[in-house]
Amino acid sequence: MSSSSEAKFTRLKKPKVVVLLSGGLDSNLSTRLVMDQEIEVEAVAVKTPFCDFDCGKGCGHRVKEVADSLGIRLKTVYFGDQYLSMLKNPKHGYGSGMNPCIDCRAMMFKAAKDHMESIGASYLVTGEVLSQRPMSQHRHALRIIEEESDLVGKVIRPLSAGKLPPSDAERLGIIDRSKLHSIAGRSRKGQLALAKQFGIQDPPNSAGGCLLTDPAFSKRVYDLFEHTDGVPTLNDVELLKVGRHFRLSTHAKLVVGRNQRENEIMKFLYLDDDYSFEAVEFTGPLGILRIKKGSELRNDLKLLAGGIVGRYSDAPRGQMVKLTVLHQQKEITMDCQMSDNSVGKKLSI
Ligand code: SF4
Repeated sequence: MSSSSEAKFTRLKKPKVVVLLSGGLDSNLSTRLVMDQEIEVEAVAVKTPFCDFDCGKGCGHRVKEVADSLGIRLKTVYFGDQYLSMLKNPKHGYGSGMNPCIDCRAMMFKAAKDHMESIGASYLVTGEVLSQRPMSQHRHALRIIEEESDLVGKVIRPLSAGKLPPSDAERLGIIDRSKLHSIAGRSRKGQLALAKQFGIQDPPNSAGGCLLTDPAFSKRVYDLFEHTDGVPTLNDVELLKVGRHFRLSTHAKLVVGRNQRENEIMKFLYLDDDYSFEAVEFTGPLGILRIKKGSELRNDLKLLAGGIVGRYSDAPRGQMVKLTVLHQQKEITMDCQMSDNSVGKKLSI
């Protein structure tokens, strides 16, 4: 075949692509821009233990809705323990919090690539916008993520294509680069104009990142990794999402529920090796004291934990509080001196 007829052939070929879909606006728009060129699209949505579906904080529940509105098939992928192993020591480090965005995106791309291979798709489409996010969307990071996932040249970024080197699909004329966009930066103007053009009602707000970009939550994550031999469990991570946290020693951490909903979640997360504390004579929260595997709990720490849990009960300030303590299916009662505020403040994480 001559090179000119080959070029014509590739121009006519319409390959299948996979889009990394979140419930947010950018990946929705990118999908539409590709579908407008009569390219067949399937979607992959990824959920990490810290973020519902890609970076779309708060819009994860919309991902199915978005896929349905686009009329495309959706595969959801859940990252669990393997994500926590990566988070312990990300090759490309952390952002301003405990967010390992480059490694995280590379994992997402790899998951999408697995799906591409299973359905015979040739390219990956993302909603990435150049320079929108500080860690993972600058030129160099985009390149690293492609390299790490072995997708160099195979990623189409329809919103920023004009600002980036052409993907293979654009180079080969499989996708018309002139119909893609040149949006860059944090402003949402370009995306909102496109949303209007596509008739998208009430476009979702810009995604605010995941829990790992939250400074207060990152502090808890750091503390957890710092005090865990090996890799924390998903249960440990779920526990980070509720209650007030107090680091009592290198071996012991106390979590105290802030409301009924959190107490219920904590009951569910309680493990036999944990110690649970509840005031007997007064209404109060549930406290869970979790100790490092294989370590013993000193009695003074048990009393301290009881004192802090008692402090958040309705018992009169400064008194002794009677609590039940459950550990390895044995329940005992103990009297603890209620802690004062300064103790909690000092130990709070
Ligand atoms: S903000 Fe970063 S760490 Fe969090 S989901 Fe997005 S890419 Fe991953």
